[in-house]
Amino acid sequence: RSFEDLGLAEWAAQTCKELGMKKPTPVQHHCIPRILAGQDVLGLAQTGSGKTAAFALPILHRLAEDPYGVFALVVTPTRELAYQLAEQFRALGSCLNLRCAVVVGGMDMVNQAQTLMRRPHVVIATPGRIKVLMDENPDIPAVFSKTKFLVLDEADRVLDVGFEEELRVVFQCLPKNRQTLLFSATMTSNLQTLLEHSANRAYFYEA
Ligand code: AMP
Repeated sequence: RSFEDLGLAEWAAQTCKELGMKKPTPVQHHCIPRILAGQDVLGLAQTGSGKTAAFALPILHRLAEDPYGVFALVVTPTRELAYQLAEQFRALGSCLNLRCAVVVGGMDMVNQAQTLMRRPHVVIATPGRIKVLMDENPDIPAVFSKTKFLVLDEADRVLDVGFEEELRVVFQCLPKNRQTLLFSATMTSNLQTLLEHSANRAYFYEA
């Protein structure tokens, strides 16, 4: 099946072609139609499986239909991963006027707060930094009050490093009717617990 067969817009399928992505990988094949249909997803998939595009493409497809910020919040364990994710979002969203912000430690917090106040479409963050911004700046939580997607990338690592408190703050700032997409290399008991608190019935993908 092609990217268009999965329900993605023609511009998205065309962008994939231009990036050398000839056909969907298994994680993309299974998860993209479910995400487009509004389901929560837990995907067990390794780096290199194409998992980033598996969530970025349907998010960008939905964003193009009804653009407003902040549309999606992506939480990932490290700065390096945050920048890599942003690169893929920018590449896949190159024909949209996508505003994508990276919010990680080691950068100026006042600048980051200002960036968030301008409501980028996609925010890619590490858990520690987004929690501090939400906690310490009373205007930030409202920025996320209509967010449609929460993604936890490398969710096993995010949870393992003991980011429960950070995630609790983040979850509180997001609307209940959002879609939650969890991608992880392994299944862990922390992930199981998180899934049990999911409002929607989640689609479970395992390679
Ligand atoms: P990821 O698993 O998200 O870390 O992706 C690994 C790499 O695979 C990235 O550099 C992508 O650009 C590439 N990729 C993702 N989807 C496809 C695809 N359908 N065909 C070929 N390459 C892909």
